[in-house]
Amino acid sequence: MSLLEVQDLTTQFQTKKGVVTAVDGVSFELEEGEAIGLVGESGCGKTTTALSITRLLPDNGRVIGGSVRMDGKDLLSLSENQMRRHRWNDIAIAFQGAMNALNPVMKVGDQVIESIMYHHGKSYAAARKRTKELFELVEIDPKRIDQYPHEFSGGMKQRAMIAMSLACDPKILIGDEPTTALDVMVQAQILDLLERLRKELKMAMILITHDLSVMSDTCDKAAVMYGGKIVEIGSVQQIIENGTHPYTKKLISSFPNMKGKRVLPESIPGTPPDLSEPPSGCYFHDRCAFAEERCRSAIPKLEMVGAGHFAACHRKEELA
Ligand code: SF4
Repeated sequence: MSLLEVQDLTTQFQTKKGVVTAVDGVSFELEEGEAIGLVGESGCGKTTTALSITRLLPDNGRVIGGSVRMDGKDLLSLSENQMRRHRWNDIAIAFQGAMNALNPVMKVGDQVIESIMYHHGKSYAAARKRTKELFELVEIDPKRIDQYPHEFSGGMKQRAMIAMSLACDPKILIGDEPTTALDVMVQAQILDLLERLRKELKMAMILITHDLSVMSDTCDKAAVMYGGKIVEIGSVQQIIENGTHPYTKKLISSFPNMKGKRVLPESIPGTPPDLSEPPSGCYFHDRCAFAEERCRSAIPKLEMVGAGHFAACHRKEELA
C-alpha cells in the first residue's frame, strides 16, 4: 500500500460558462519520502488536483468521482471534522504567492504561532518555542520572530510559509509553485531547502510547478498535465530524457537546458483548451504537429510505454 493513492480523481467547477471539468480522471501514487512533480501550463489542473486532495476547493468546486487514499483511508469520504484532523497534521499545503499570503499587519512569527495554536491546541508559550524551532529549520534567524512581513525578503516570506506548513510535522507537503516570483538565486535556495527538509523529515512531497527545471532538480517522479488530465507520467529521468507525448516534448523544449547543449527555448504554439467547451478527441490536437484524423475524434488512454512510464497519445509508439 502506498502512502497516497489517487485514483481516477475528477473535479468540476460550476462557472458562468457552465460546468468545467478541471481535473479529469487523475491517478497517481506516492510512497513515503518520495516526491512527485505535477507539471504543465497554467489552468491544466495542477492546483485543483492539490485542492481536491486536501479538500480545500472553493464553494463552486466539487469532486465528482474517484478516491484519495492516505495510509489506506479514503480522505474523500471523511466528514469535514475528521478531515480537519488530517489536514496540516498528515498532509499540508504551502500555497503559492508567499508575497501576498502573509497578513501585512501581523508579525510573521505570530502568524505561525496562531496556526500552531489552532491546529495543535498548544499554549502561546509552547507555540512560540515551536515557531523558533521551525524558523531555524527553514533557516530564518529566530530573532526575527517579531518582525513584520515588510521586513522580510521574498525568499524569507516563502521560508516562513514553508515553516507554517511544517508546523504539524505532515507526512506529505504540497508545494504550490513555491519558487514563483523569486529571483533565480533565491529559487535555488528554496529548492535546496525543500530537498533538505524532505530528506531530514522523511517527508513525501507533491510539487506543483509550470517549470520543468524546478521539477527535475527536486522530484523522483513527474506527471505532465494538460486540460485536466495526466498525459504522461513516469520517473523524472523517463520524462526528461524519453518524454513521449508531443506536449511533454514541447514543454521540455520551452525551457532553457541548463546542463546539455545550449539551444534557444521554443514557445508552444496555440493556447490551452477552454475546458468549458473541451475539444473532441485528444485535447492537444489543435497544437500538435503529429495530429491525424483519429486524434480529432478519439480520446487517447494513458498506456504503458516503459516500466512505470505511461503516455496518452495515439502515436506514442512511433514517437517514442
Ligand atoms: Fe498529438 Fe494525436 Fe498524440 Fe494527441 S494523440 S498528442 S494529437 S499525436
